[in-house]
Amino acid sequence: MVNNTKCCVYMICPYCNNEDTNVLESRGLPGDDGVRRRRQCKKCEKRFTTHERIVNIDLKVVKKNGKVEQYDREKLLKGVGKACYKRKVGKEQIENLVDDVELRLLNRKTTEIKSSDIGKMVLNRLRKLDELAYMRFASVYMDFENAQEYKRFVLSSKTVNNFSDDI
Ligand SMILES: [Zn+2]
Repeated sequence: MVNNTKCCVYMICPYCNNEDTNVLESRGLPGDDGVRRRRQCKKCEKRFTTHERIVNIDLKVVKKNGKVEQYDREKLLKGVGKACYKRKVGKEQIENLVDDVELRLLNRKTTEIKSSDIGKMVLNRLRKLDELAYMRFASVYMDFENAQEYKRFVLSSKTVNNFSDDI
């Protein structure tokens, strides 16, 4: 099992070398670990296509019980997918959500992160997509000790607008 994430998070515009681009469309390449993206430069607004390869990322995830695991994109995708089961959240929305989390992960200085911190980053984004999926994911990923702790979380999440991504 290879633990992957996408490389080349900042794709540079081939026309003006601007680093800030929008993704218009993402498509997995069949039989390959890459993804094809249609991008638009935010500066010159020209469009271009990138083929982004997936590479290993050296990120250690520290679980609540202290165990350390290698970051696993597939596992995270599965976890979010499960939470979105039978909800109106598309596969692409889930991929984009994980992409967005990975972008934040890659921008951190350390190579270790608590699993609950990744959980919070996902929850931040999932909440905007689907309330029930958000609750489901929280109950699994946040490793609540008991029902009371979960209840507290649900109540507090109604008053707190967002978790901080700055972790
Ligand atoms: Zn440009």
